[in-house]
Amino acid sequence: MMPFDEGPDLLPIDSKKSGSILSVAIPRPLEGLFTYRLPAELVPLVQVGGCVKVPFGKSITHAFIVEPPKDIATIPEALSVALSGVKLKDVLAVNPMGEVLPPDVMKLCHWAREYYCAPLGEVLNCAIPLSLLEESQTTSKTTRKTSLAKKASKKVAPRIVQFTDEQSQALKLIQQFQEEGSTRVALLNGVTGSGKTEVYIELARNALAAGRGVLILVPEIALTPQLYQRFEEQLGVSIAVWHSAISPGRRRQQNLALRTGETRIVIGARSAVFAPVQNLGLVVVDEEHDATYKQEDRVRYNARDLAIVRAMFASAFTVLGSATPSLETRERVREGRYSQAKLTRRIAPGGFPPIEMIDLRTEEKVQDVQALLSLRVVKKIQATLDAGEQVMVYLNRRGFAAFLLCRECGEVKNCTNCSVSLTVHRKDAHLRCHICGYIEQIPDTCNKCHGTDLFPMGAGTESLEVDLSRLLRGAKILRLDRDQITSAKRLDQILEKFRNKEGNILLGTQMLVKGHDFPGVTLVVVVLADSLFRFPDFRSPERAYQILRQVSGRSGRGDQAGRVLIQTFDTEHPVLQALDGRLSEETFLENERELRQCLGYPPFGRLARLRFESNINNEAATRASFVAQQLNSQNNLPNLEFLGPSEAFLERVKGSFRWDLLIKSKSFPALQKAIGLARQLCFSNKWQMSVDVDPYSI
Ligand code: ADP
Ligand code: ZN
Repeated sequence: MMPFDEGPDLLPIDSKKSGSILSVAIPRPLEGLFTYRLPAELVPLVQVGGCVKVPFGKSITHAFIVEPPKDIATIPEALSVALSGVKLKDVLAVNPMGEVLPPDVMKLCHWAREYYCAPLGEVLNCAIPLSLLEESQTTSKTTRKTSLAKKASKKVAPRIVQFTDEQSQALKLIQQFQEEGSTRVALLNGVTGSGKTEVYIELARNALAAGRGVLILVPEIALTPQLYQRFEEQLGVSIAVWHSAISPGRRRQQNLALRTGETRIVIGARSAVFAPVQNLGLVVVDEEHDATYKQEDRVRYNARDLAIVRAMFASAFTVLGSATPSLETRERVREGRYSQAKLTRRIAPGGFPPIEMIDLRTEEKVQDVQALLSLRVVKKIQATLDAGEQVMVYLNRRGFAAFLLCRECGEVKNCTNCSVSLTVHRKDAHLRCHICGYIEQIPDTCNKCHGTDLFPMGAGTESLEVDLSRLLRGAKILRLDRDQITSAKRLDQILEKFRNKEGNILLGTQMLVKGHDFPGVTLVVVVLADSLFRFPDFRSPERAYQILRQVSGRSGRGDQAGRVLIQTFDTEHPVLQALDGRLSEETFLENERELRQCLGYPPFGRLARLRFESNINNEAATRASFVAQQLNSQNNLPNLEFLGPSEAFLERVKGSFRWDLLIKSKSFPALQKAIGLARQLCFSNKWQMSVDVDPYSI
């Protein structure tokens, strides 16, 4: 594809029978490469993996160099004929950062493009955010590999922690797998607080000592600054930290340090899978089951899966760590494709905290509070505070109330753009949409019946904070949710305060769950478990189990024994039975596995979701049906099963209606063929459609 714009500054390519052309990937949701004329003076500066500035439409954009420039004299006859008379625009400048994407990352991007059916420019844009390229025109352009040899021999500090027998065994086993090479991936299946991180550090130490680079992926590094500290202190080397909250300046500097080999280890969230680590030898994906590894917009890649592919390209070894491995990963262990090491015991002397269900149907509840709180839970929190210990309270909703209900006519205030109710935020007297950010003042009257009895229903972290500080003596509450945490620094402050015991209750949403290690916490309270497993998704029991296990694991990590209280209306739910031991974990997982096998869901079948969006509801639906029909009638596409089309779970977002078509197949090539066909159909009709391969939320 070529831009055919006319303009006085454009040279017809055959005006001189010499010169070069360059095909580049544009960071837009567009297929194919775009061809430009490359001025002679820029030719020596161009290298694959680098970037250029080019005119595109009416604007100027960065673009990625994915193949070497071609000399016009040497291009094939057919192309030459096609190009003759075509006026190509000029490449304006070559970015001085040079090869920002090393060959193995480039290869990974090509793989991701193919696998996730995403435009190459968009994939490359995930690997190299445009902000990284912005000001670099003015910075130094020399990126020589001078320091590589020198720094590679930098001494790695010796281990200070004395490993437990279990840790030593797990480490030895993984190293054995690594040496034998019978599998390239090992699962470190270790309960929360069993010392997995120490094992990662040891493996990293060995890789560095062998002159290899290390990539550590964690879910949301912004939430666990302490992890980075642990690695840096113990390894005694500089470490690059890679996540979206890192400033462009720091990111540029780290990018350079990694490319030159000056820094050889990176810890980061999802996007760090593209970090230019040299001579990669070890990849660690901590909490491999975590849904945040899946990117939910633009290129819908799963960083865990890409990490494994990248390691394979680099002949590196991958360690997946988790206390609650995904069914996908467990299945691969079962098939013998991954090896496994286990850590079954906690480091802390108290062992595992007992988990107790609080039945909200029968328990006596506290009156006149926004949240559903049983008397027993409040008493237990009080006793814990009185003993000078700390409490974590998990509630998966921020704000003051879930929704505003008119008690006269039953009307609920919804977002004008999305199919969700607005959340009540009382502090700033607003109703807010948690999907699109729409905001309005809390009204005095119902806009349907003009009644005045508007009542906030359900609790959020904001109201729970108010309730708890009223109910408890000596409570010093710290809140951890997206309303409170506006920056990484703010988060650090809150976590630091809690660590220093300036607070005795840490109250929060999902943010609370991840990897924090607070030895003072002896009680974890889950305010309402039901919202986790009442989700219309085949993964919801698995995910609810993982989240509840993980949040439970925050209790009793120090010298004092801990406990966990889970409030629920459904004490008999298998997820809860598996948590408190009425059902063994194996039985619970085996049941889930069988269900998936029966229905052909992952890991036993592959899924792709096609999403059709339009501002007109009927249109999205009709297009989805049309594509479904067309795919259905292809007799060269057996082994496909179609679910839907149906309205998306959130059927309206930001004013756009969304219809989904789910394709299920045991054959991945068949699935890809179907996606290819669907994309052609939509492309020729100019319909908006997005593809999600291996979708996480359906
Ligand atoms: P996980 O990653 O499995 O949750 P961590 O590696 O964070 O577990 O270990 C939990 C706690 O135990 C941490 O505070 C860690 O410093 C400590 N720890 C881990 N291994 C040892 C050990 N061998 N000796 C003493 N403390 C340890
Ligand atoms: Zn909205």
